[in-house]
Amino acid sequence: MNQQPAKSDKLPRPFLGVNFAACRVYGRLYKNHLGTAYEGHCPRCGKFVQVPIGGHGTSARFFIFDCGP
Ligand SMILES: [Zn+2]
Repeated sequence: MNQQPAKSDKLPRPFLGVNFAACRVYGRLYKNHLGTAYEGHCPRCGKFVQVPIGGHGTSARFFIFDCGP
């Protein structure tokens, strides 16, 4: 893995790394405008993913989602 120093000229958008298991691709979920969940789509099959944030939400920084049928 290549690790590059973070540039802070712009505020980074919080995101959650997601491994889309069925498509075997990696993607990112970004916080929605309400800040209640991370949302995004599988870059390959387009399946919508939503991960709630909050009290009992995930605190994991990395997430595996099975986007298969
Ligand atoms: Zn997929």
